[in-house]
Amino acid sequence: MSILNSFFKKYPKEKSGKPSKDPVCRMKPTDNITYDHDGITYKFCSDHCKWQFEEDPSAYI
Ligand SMILES: [Zn+2]
Repeated sequence: MSILNSFFKKYPKEKSGKPSKDPVCRMKPTDNITYDHDGITYKFCSDHCKWQFEEDPSAYI
């Protein structure tokens, strides 16, 4: 059973609810680059993606 337990610990389930992906490039974002839009905090992998989102948020939602 210990082998099975360590297997599942390796692949924890993603937390659902809040957006966990960079909406521009769909990659994993960092926690310190964020932008609030319509009451939702979006996270981005880089400033470049954040700037693109700011230009036209509706294109990425
Ligand atoms: Zn990005």
